[in-house]
Amino acid sequence: MSCSRRQFIIYSGALAAVGGVAGHSLANTMKVDGVRYGMIHDETACIGCTACMDACREVNQVPEGVSRLEIIRSGPIGTFPDAEYHFFRKSCQHCDNAPCVHVCPTGASHIRKEDGIVDVDADLCVGCMYCLAACPYQVRFINPVTRVADKCDFCRKTNLAAGKEPACVESCPTKALVFGNLDDPDSPIAKRLVKETTYRYKQALGTSPKMYRVPKGEITS
Ligand code: SF4
Ligand code: SF4
Repeated sequence: MSCSRRQFIIYSGALAAVGGVAGHSLANTMKVDGVRYGMIHDETACIGCTACMDACREVNQVPEGVSRLEIIRSGPIGTFPDAEYHFFRKSCQHCDNAPCVHVCPTGASHIRKEDGIVDVDADLCVGCMYCLAACPYQVRFINPVTRVADKCDFCRKTNLAAGKEPACVESCPTKALVFGNLDDPDSPIAKRLVKETTYRYKQALGTSPKMYRVPKGEITS
């Protein structure tokens, strides 16, 4: 699942399309104060039940036909009765160096200083779709109800606001998802990242994703 030539062309085109925005340095990693939220998807624990997808849709009232979170199944690896499947989480990576933010002409797409969440200000979004084209992870969509760019926001307005963990984390029956402050060395997520081998999807693009994955078999990069 490497970045295809087509994706690269789309990404480059989006940058070129907004002229002055291309002047932003993509090398600049966004700085946040205090909390910097991230997530781990443990692909060795995920059973592909999609409870996380259902919880996300319900809690965040995501309309049918679009999705903030998908679990993509690949395989089988091996043969029956030992065949196994691989489950890959497709959702916003909350990139510290986010192409969607760099190309947004109105400032609607932004990184929140207080927690590092990549968010969309619905009042500023004009629906130009530059961010959809620029995202190398293809996780953004135009919400058919609100008509503005949408994607995972770590349940910022719903579960997080209520003092809970994101809906996907809460609902996972195998505890395959870990959420927390990457900058707090005592947080469960930071502790796991110290002791476990993880990878980040397409990190060679320089996006600095805050979504980490515990690999099951071959690493997807
Ligand atoms: Fe933006 Fe896509 Fe990165 Fe999310 S995954 S922060 S939408 S570039
Ligand atoms: Fe995997 Fe957990 Fe989502 Fe089920 S709820 S698909 S086990 S991450």
